[in-house]
Amino acid sequence: MKIYTMPDILANKIAAGEVVERPASVVKELVENSIDAGSTTIKVEVEEAGLRKIKITDNGSGMSADDCERAFLRHATSKIRSENDLFHVKTLGFRGEALASIAAVSRLTIKTSTGEEAGTQLILDGGKIVEKDRTDARQGTEISVEHLFYNTPARLKHMKTIHTELGHITDVMNRLSLANPHIRFELYHNDKQLFQSNGRGDLIQIIAQIYGVSVAKKMLKIECKTLDYQITGYISKPEVTRSSRNYMSTIINGRYIRSIPLNHAILKGYHTLLPIGKSPIVVLQIEMDPILVDVNVHPAKLEVRFSKERELYQAIEETVREVFRKETLIPRVSLNT
Ligand code: ADP
Ligand code: MG
Repeated sequence: MKIYTMPDILANKIAAGEVVERPASVVKELVENSIDAGSTTIKVEVEEAGLRKIKITDNGSGMSADDCERAFLRHATSKIRSENDLFHVKTLGFRGEALASIAAVSRLTIKTSTGEEAGTQLILDGGKIVEKDRTDARQGTEISVEHLFYNTPARLKHMKTIHTELGHITDVMNRLSLANPHIRFELYHNDKQLFQSNGRGDLIQIIAQIYGVSVAKKMLKIECKTLDYQITGYISKPEVTRSSRNYMSTIINGRYIRSIPLNHAILKGYHTLLPIGKSPIVVLQIEMDPILVDVNVHPAKLEVRFSKERELYQAIEETVREVFRKETLIPRVSLNT
């Protein structure tokens, strides 16, 4: 025999290579789990840009002792059960890979409780459970990831400076806050608070916190409803520009995504109002039937596919353009004149 099925630990380590690119990916996956668990406050504490420690504390549903152990198995999820569910995913997660992958490349401690019974504590080392205990019954989950990539030295070597890695973490937290204005987020680095959102649901306040009050004052509200899409959010007036598209955030059904054509549609909506090479600050929240969007394209689910993409891009371009028409920045061209 030459062919063997890999032991789970090895398969998890390989999968981790895709899902866990850097500390910010751990933050993203764990916070998304906290969001899926219905949390209203999520606290993220990192040390040395997450390379020493990443700790996430939430007040979500928590897990029972059995579920907590199962959660670390590969392809174990409470979010989908059948093939059909895949087309109607409403949660951020569904692949059942994050916890198994993160645990495979770190030393991980989880404390979790559903609030009804004593909580569970597990310690995993390189994906193996090394300690099991009971803890207090405060509802919610606390996960600490230490020594990330200690057993994948090649990956560890590729980590950039503390400054760069922390920048990625801040970016993830900003986008998660923009996508979830009703959740209160806190971010600490080496015990110093870097960010906090109030969870009161007001998107423009979060924009003010992230990009500054003077930017927020120059944002225009957009709102549009078509048969398939509901588009809301804020776009900056053409005088507020940045040199990178990193300030354009699009959120589909609560999930932050990256889409070049979608950004392009927004820019087309600005028409000739933006200086060449400049990008606006944009936060677009688009709601649609999950059947219209395939989120199972990319392991980190940053890329998605739309089934009616032309209609969507047109709706976005038109919505953006309409705002500037209302502001009389773009004149209405009549064919008779
Ligand atoms: P997925 O999110 O794709 O289901 P994960 O590996 O990220 O896969 O998580 C596995 C399961 O563990 C989830 O389906 C969920 O049931 C449970 N879980 C993970 N994190 C939390 C949390 N913070 N609170 C409650 N349950 C959680
Ligand atoms: Mg998940």
